[in-house]
Amino acid sequence: MFDTHCHLADSPLRDDVEGVLARARTAGVAGFLCPAVEASSSRAALDLARRHPGRVFAAAGVHPAWISPGATPDLSWLVRMIAGGELVAVGEIGLDASIPGADLQGQERAFRAQAGLAREAGLPVVVHARGALDGVVRVLESLGPGGPGGVLHAFGGSAELAARLFRLGFLRGVGGTVTRSGSTRIRAAVAATPLDAIVLETDAPYIGTQSRPAGRVEPCDLVEVAETLAQLIDCPLDTVVTRTTANARRLFRLDREAAR
Ligand SMILES: [Zn+2]
Repeated sequence: MFDTHCHLADSPLRDDVEGVLARARTAGVAGFLCPAVEASSSRAALDLARRHPGRVFAAAGVHPAWISPGATPDLSWLVRMIAGGELVAVGEIGLDASIPGADLQGQERAFRAQAGLAREAGLPVVVHARGALDGVVRVLESLGPGGPGGVLHAFGGSAELAARLFRLGFLRGVGGTVTRSGSTRIRAAVAATPLDAIVLETDAPYIGTQSRPAGRVEPCDLVEVAETLAQLIDCPLDTVVTRTTANARRLFRLDREAAR
């Protein structure tokens, strides 16, 4: 299995990365994408990828929650990091309307600028969309078809919206929320989304599952996500694992990575 979204450089995971990776491996999770939220966490993600080649992969970018109202972030460090050729994605980037006093226009400018850098470099993006789904769709559609696509991380949109974005190369990140029996709306949306449009993620340590509280999640909990998805779509677990792993490897071009 491939965990397309785990914050290995964040506490508490960073305090025992070797243990976290070993528990994941025992559970059958062998690949990890570590996203970032600003410059220093982007450097930390890259550092982890260098220490665990072929297993941990890094994304870099500025998360909407790290955009100060009225400010335009300096992205020169991101331009240099992309040019280094070691990133497999740009992210997490996007819009977050849940932040009190959020400057959504400023977030959108930063989102567009980073998505543009990713597209120029042929890198997929990891999209954080909380509220403001219309704005996210507007930005992604304005990039046009034929781009490198990306992941809609913890996506709460309908299957119809996911299908519209799938045509632009965006896959739905399915994570801990679906494991909770009360998540009826998201479960229905995920069940109606084709398996080819899905990748698995934990957002470890943050998004809780039915059996593990938020803040304590690890990539090994991806198994619970995969098992829930298999039940929801009435598909053998093996098929869910094989297909979602292949989707992730294709999206992040990992077979090309391995050949380098
Ligand atoms: Zn995240």
